[in-house]
Amino acid sequence: MTKTPTILKQQETAARTEEEPPGRTFMGSEAEEEPPGTTAVTCRNKFFSHIPERDWNNWKWHFQHRITTIDELAKFIPLSTKEQAYLNLVITKYPLSITPHYLSLIDPCDPEDPIRKQAIPDFKEIALAGMGREDPLEEKRDSVVPGLVHRYPDRVLMVLTNLCPMLCRHCTRKREWRHGVWVRTPAEIEAMLDYIRKNKTVRDVVISGGDPLTLSTQRLEAVLSKLRKIPHVEIIRIGTRFPVVLPQRIDDELCNMLSKYGPIWLNTHFNHPREITPQSAQACDRLLRSGIPVNNQSVLLRGINDTVATQTKLCQGLLKIKVRPYYLFQGDEVQGTEHLRTPVETGIKIIEGMRGYTSGLAIPTFVIDLPDGGGKIPIQPDYVMSQIGKDLILRNYQGNVFHFRNPVGLSQTRSVRRNGNGKRANPLQAQLL
Ligand code: SF4
Repeated sequence: MTKTPTILKQQETAARTEEEPPGRTFMGSEAEEEPPGTTAVTCRNKFFSHIPERDWNNWKWHFQHRITTIDELAKFIPLSTKEQAYLNLVITKYPLSITPHYLSLIDPCDPEDPIRKQAIPDFKEIALAGMGREDPLEEKRDSVVPGLVHRYPDRVLMVLTNLCPMLCRHCTRKREWRHGVWVRTPAEIEAMLDYIRKNKTVRDVVISGGDPLTLSTQRLEAVLSKLRKIPHVEIIRIGTRFPVVLPQRIDDELCNMLSKYGPIWLNTHFNHPREITPQSAQACDRLLRSGIPVNNQSVLLRGINDTVATQTKLCQGLLKIKVRPYYLFQGDEVQGTEHLRTPVETGIKIIEGMRGYTSGLAIPTFVIDLPDGGGKIPIQPDYVMSQIGKDLILRNYQGNVFHFRNPVGLSQTRSVRRNGNGKRANPLQAQLL
């Protein structure tokens, strides 16, 4: 039976969470980025120099002081009266939430700033609202109990809350922002766990956004400890943007708790090299030292990270902080995000422009999460130019052409085949016979 999640007023929940708390093709701008960390320090001084270090390093302070109104935002970012009026309209449909940490990364004087575009609403979110769908991945359809999506045979997705410290303008689950903040009740969580207990094919549980780390460490531990008691659950994955938007959350208490319930893998969401700051690097380092591998899933976003230069710098920067670039997502067909979506060709050209010029370890898999719950598929540049018989004509990253002798399959070499002279055929002859 479907139960409605507990609806809490945003303020109440915020308070409670506080307690619990082709070739090398370059596209777009090629402007040099600032070195990681520089902007964070500069803008922290500009906006928040009066905040004591103790508060600045306290994630609960950041959470409590999220910027959620246009009036507050206008104190930091120059906005005309007309812009403020437009943005007030936007946030009636798609609310605003920015942490002071993330705000400190924004260049307030640059309307095209890639950090700003991820955090500050845009009138196009409602102007282009006719394009896209609320739930293109059909997560509601594939929910087996409220909050639990079972699409692939061996894994499930648990969504424990719709609350995130920052509301990313490109979010696939923007549909969840509108009806107040909710956190799954203990009974709802028990129903999810019960489903997993009964379904022995589930070996991988993903707990993802709304951001699960908005729950208090104790509440999260209550879920993880029960999951860990289910023998067929081999791995737990946590999807969180905290290391990027509020890295102070990754404290010793959290890491000590997580380290008890491994193997836990953590997927985070850096989209731009300027998000890699000393604080975010420290957060990832803490997780890694606690035995939690950290991977990155970024979304390809127009005017934000849609160039070879930016993606290369992002992925190389991630490797420097020991985070593996895992996926680069094509933007989903989500209502209110059309202005940030790029053509699929852009992603293919970015991967093509990276391959060969940097380590394969730095190259994420470019994927489309198919509409209607079709699942994720990798999209790659094609390096096979043609096939002659069994052999392949391939091109490399520089566009040079190579003939590749394709080994004959073992099953074909096992059966004895005879050539025109009645002698045993060699493997290539056998293929052609
Ligand atoms: S952190 Fe993830 S779930 Fe939350 S708003 Fe950003 S993209 Fe959406």
